[in-house]
Amino acid sequence: MKSCPKFTFGVGDRFAHQAASQLAAFQLAAQAGVDLVPVWNKSNREHLIIGSEPSGTRAAADKAVADLGWTQPYLLDADHINLKTVDRFVAPCDFFTLDVADDIGEAAEPADIEAFIGKHPELLGTVSIAGIDAPFEITRADIEKTADQFLKATQKAGAIYRHIVEAKGGSDDFVTEVSMDETDKPQTPPELLVILAAIADQGIPIQTIAPKFTGRFNKGVDYVGDVAAFEKEFNDDLAVIAHAIASYGLPSSLKLSVHSGSDKFSIYPAIRRALARTGAGLHIKTAGTSWLEELIGLAEAGGAALDLAKKIYATALSKKAALCEPYATVIDIDDARLPSTEEVNGWTSDQYTGALRHDQSNPLYNAHFRQLLHVGFKVAAQLGDTYLDALKANEAIVAKNVTTNLFDRHMKPLFL
Ligand SMILES: [Zn+2]
Repeated sequence: MKSCPKFTFGVGDRFAHQAASQLAAFQLAAQAGVDLVPVWNKSNREHLIIGSEPSGTRAAADKAVADLGWTQPYLLDADHINLKTVDRFVAPCDFFTLDVADDIGEAAEPADIEAFIGKHPELLGTVSIAGIDAPFEITRADIEKTADQFLKATQKAGAIYRHIVEAKGGSDDFVTEVSMDETDKPQTPPELLVILAAIADQGIPIQTIAPKFTGRFNKGVDYVGDVAAFEKEFNDDLAVIAHAIASYGLPSSLKLSVHSGSDKFSIYPAIRRALARTGAGLHIKTAGTSWLEELIGLAEAGGAALDLAKKIYATALSKKAALCEPYATVIDIDDARLPSTEEVNGWTSDQYTGALRHDQSNPLYNAHFRQLLHVGFKVAAQLGDTYLDALKANEAIVAKNVTTNLFDRHMKPLFL
């Protein structure tokens, strides 16, 4: 097992052009006194939409690290992979997010449920966990139900993990995460305890786990939900993780992973308080929003670059249904709030950047416009060199936006 550092911060780089401007934000954080380890993540879904390869993400990350003289650790995440999609990630990646959300709810074998309950008498009855006021009261029926829902998923995670070990020729060189976030229902802290026991039974040296939390974690916009309920759940999850480390011999570096964690400004104070109180680590994944900073940079540059940003919106609006389809569960776009192509074509740089940049104090900010463009990266991918050449021609202004977004809006409120 490769040990996962305490604070890891996932960044997405759709077009493999922002690794250096992203890394610059980690250098600013280090100068300000907090060690954050960059994890470049790009899921199979994003690679398919763009037509890119994980080896390209590796090349971009390695180049940025060399160019900026970064001597601290960094990782490359095979984000949301499964047995069918993992193979092309094996060589370039050293962090694997085993996605078993689709397997949740698949009925477990009755014999496996029996064996699990037999092996875990400690989960039955009153389970007291340090840091949680009211002990969990877990009945046999509760465990049966939870095991029936999650045992298959943990078995699948075990199969993916063993496949990676075999393909890599060992288990020393990578970090393992298990993700369950892309599903309908949040996992409760008692369910998380059962899931971690089952993951330990699979022999997976899990170092980060991404549950689905209470509330909505839409792509690229703020949290929608009950912040107090989230804070309680987050704190209880941290207590469950500490308990599971002690009870099941899981790695002491095991920590929570917050997916689609960028832009969730309203829960950052709660996360920050929890980390300060417990000394726990954190993995946070941003939702590929560096691509939006590229668009903001182009719009800010004006001229032909602003025209290109407008063209991308016009095309995204005309292909809205197809673009939104793969992300249907993680976006909420109100068509009535989307500006027309004609309106946007008349915008100045300030109007475009004001609508897109995630600054809720700006009256021009439009979360619907932002979400549509967030899922609209396929439009830029289809523009090919026209888009990439614009990034190169406007490199400095784009880089400034990428770095500032990560450092000022994300790292500072969470860690500094
Ligand atoms: Zn996720």
